[in-house]
Amino acid sequence: MSSVNDIRSTFLDYYKKNGHEIVASSPLVPRNDPTLLFTSAGMVQFKNVFTGVETRDYSRATTAQKCLRAGGKHNDLDNVGYTARHHTFFEMLGNFSFGDYFKEEAISFAWNLVTREFALPKEKLLVTVYHTDDAAAELWKKIAGLSDDKIIRIATSDNFWAAGDTGPCGPCSEIFFDHGDKIWGGPPGSADEDGDRFIEIWNLVFMQFDQMPEGRIDLPRPSIDTGMGLERISAVLQGVHDNYDIDLFRALIRASEEATGVGSDNKTRASHRVIADHLRASSFLIADGVLPSNEGRGYVLRRIMRRAMRHAQLLGAQEPLMHRLVSTLVREMGQAYPELVRGEALIKETLELEENRFRKTLARGLSLLNDATQDLASGESLDGETAFKLYDTFGFPLDLTQDALRQRNIGVDVDGFNVAMAKQKAEARASWAGSGEAATEAVWFGIKDEAGSTEFLGYDTEEAEGVV
Ligand code: ATP
Ligand code: MG
Ligand code: MG
Ligand code: MG
Repeated sequence: MSSVNDIRSTFLDYYKKNGHEIVASSPLVPRNDPTLLFTSAGMVQFKNVFTGVETRDYSRATTAQKCLRAGGKHNDLDNVGYTARHHTFFEMLGNFSFGDYFKEEAISFAWNLVTREFALPKEKLLVTVYHTDDAAAELWKKIAGLSDDKIIRIATSDNFWAAGDTGPCGPCSEIFFDHGDKIWGGPPGSADEDGDRFIEIWNLVFMQFDQMPEGRIDLPRPSIDTGMGLERISAVLQGVHDNYDIDLFRALIRASEEATGVGSDNKTRASHRVIADHLRASSFLIADGVLPSNEGRGYVLRRIMRRAMRHAQLLGAQEPLMHRLVSTLVREMGQAYPELVRGEALIKETLELEENRFRKTLARGLSLLNDATQDLASGESLDGETAFKLYDTFGFPLDLTQDALRQRNIGVDVDGFNVAMAKQKAEARASWAGSGEAATEAVWFGIKDEAGSTEFLGYDTEEAEGVV
């Protein structure tokens, strides 16, 4: 059985053999790009190469890219622990052509890798194309010999990629693996496509247009951008359905089970998964220089860490847990990502400090949460005032509260939460105004509001849509 580490190398070596430069992953925090909260796809580090602003001395590249989808437009945080295929942090394997080869080669390379090198049975594969992309449909027929019912035409933006309102864009084609009829879910485009039976493993983007304000023109040199989830292809190749059952995640979950003394069963499984996933995300973020704070990227990290810490508490951990799992992660991934080895001490220290800090209020917050929700039934919601108190006094990020109530199918009044937050800000402002320096403070709060509360929106609106 191939390990995750072997599969990563096989992918990179395959594209190297085919004339691609192996380029190192860029950091999770994009360089010189304040419009993007985190790197969410392999193409991010090549944005300027695709548009021609920047040139490289190669026209074909391949990467294993660290990605985070836990904030901004791409947010898979709520899926973690509950679907078989989503992580916050994951690795995206990709191959890129900068005006070099196009659709035919991209499809050939992908099909060859999947069916020859990885030896996946053709019967279990199906693909989607954008509904107007006859060329791609024809190529799948010619190269892969897929029948029409295995080439599904999709009309939604799922199969059309655009960096923004203008600029390079084009249709995509996604490769799906059928995990079999024991698992619920329908093929892409069907009513129950959100199930986990048909899992998208690879997305090929054919960048062929340049969207101008007045219309779309053909790019003189079309390009290719692809992304395949390493954990998803590893699950397929290791004969398991679930990403959390691959060798890497088993090692992390085992560490969590040993450290807590609690095995995985129907009640505890999600907690171990959240801990394993969030351990990776937190450790890689810290290794890339993000530290927990109350705004921006640091707040995303804090939310991830605290969410995991609540699950550690659920498993009955009496002492800080997360930092004790770091060595296992470094053992599993340190060779591919030496920044983990370099950052190991800082990662452990940061996790332990945050967990000690949070544990001071965690138990009291949870008991308040229990009291406030004990009379609520499935389908009802916790009031916004209490959710805000949990946030403000006990350090519970809103999504932690939501996650805590999820199993009981209880929601949170998010509007009420925002009202409570706004009210507190207004009160703080009023009391400052009373200190006699109203004019300066008004300016100060104005700036803070702009920098603080609109910060997330700022990232969101600018972030590339549907980046692969
Ligand atoms: P899905 O529809 O399953 O959420 P996606 O279409 O959002 O996936 P893309 O943006 O196309 O994903 O990313 C390219 C590839 O990266 C996907 O085909 C998948 O293999 C992988 N991937 C995407 N999101 C995640 C995630 N949260 N965790 C693990 N792998 C992911
Ligand atoms: Mg997605
Ligand atoms: Mg998709
Ligand atoms: Mg996709």
